[in-house]
Amino acid sequence: MFFGKKQEVTRAETAVCARAKINLTLDVTGRREDGYHTVRMVMQSVALHDEVRVAVTRGEKKPRGILLTCSLPYLPVDERNLAYRAAELFYRETGALPGTCEIYIEKRIPIAAGLAGGSSDAAAVLRALDTLHETGLTDDELCAIGLKLGADVPYCLRGGTMLAEGIGEQLTALAPMPHCWVVLCKPPFAVSTGEAYREMDAIDIKDRPDTNGIIRALEKGDYSGVCRRLSNVMELAIATKRRQIGEIRAFLTENGADGTLMSGSGPTVYGLFADEGRAKTAAKMLSRRFADTFFTETV
Ligand code: ATP
Repeated sequence: MFFGKKQEVTRAETAVCARAKINLTLDVTGRREDGYHTVRMVMQSVALHDEVRVAVTRGEKKPRGILLTCSLPYLPVDERNLAYRAAELFYRETGALPGTCEIYIEKRIPIAAGLAGGSSDAAAVLRALDTLHETGLTDDELCAIGLKLGADVPYCLRGGTMLAEGIGEQLTALAPMPHCWVVLCKPPFAVSTGEAYREMDAIDIKDRPDTNGIIRALEKGDYSGVCRRLSNVMELAIATKRRQIGEIRAFLTENGADGTLMSGSGPTVYGLFADEGRAKTAAKMLSRRFADTFFTETV
């Protein structure tokens, strides 16, 4: 009788922080023939993050493929989830064998909030799988895979202070933002990116962000110069119909924020603070009215 060599079952796991981002500026510069808007924007990562835990088991008799679970019961855990699609694409592009790939997302970044939560989860999965499968992909290779999932994924793979151009995928590292405290507040409604672009296309934009000015301020480490130039062309379109955005900005300013803005396609509003105590107090007061309020910092 022939006995085959019993295959050893191995399990490796890792955890990655999937950080949220804010936009210090956001300008929409045009539209490509394929319908994608082109942008010029300065992105900044913050400490608020989802925790993405990934475990890969190999050598099982019956590998179970990709299994995603999430702390939020209403987020889909199949192909509709960007983290799931990131794992599928990783295996397709690298040829690595999935065995059983378990992904768990402890979700803290609010959904459809302009903070790139989904893109950041996808970026975290790509990083985790590259480590666990020892595929040794370069940052450029990971970004090329990430771009197939979404325009913000390459930025989320790199993080920090970056100028993003093209559809968001052309990245240039900038001088880091001087450290400050950040209060994030998401009013109780969601804005999809498609909705935001449609509303923005319908209005005439006169004021453009001074992106070059903010880049110079960053180079000089001029925190006040950065705060003075925070600007988002989408805000006018989104905020006109949603007065809470203006109210939150006004509240943050009255309570010591050095600068305020809506992030990305909204509706999250943020305030930047040099003073930690003021930021904590503002966050505490806002959280009484808006459950999705976070005290965090630039990273
Ligand atoms: P961006 O700033 O890149 O436009 P966002 O913060 O506005 O992103 P997300 O939180 O990424 O938006 O969610 C957008 C949509 O993507 C939601 O409707 C959600 O159902 C879907 N989605 C898919 N996967 C995820 C995920 N892992 N986390 C959050 N949302 C996800």
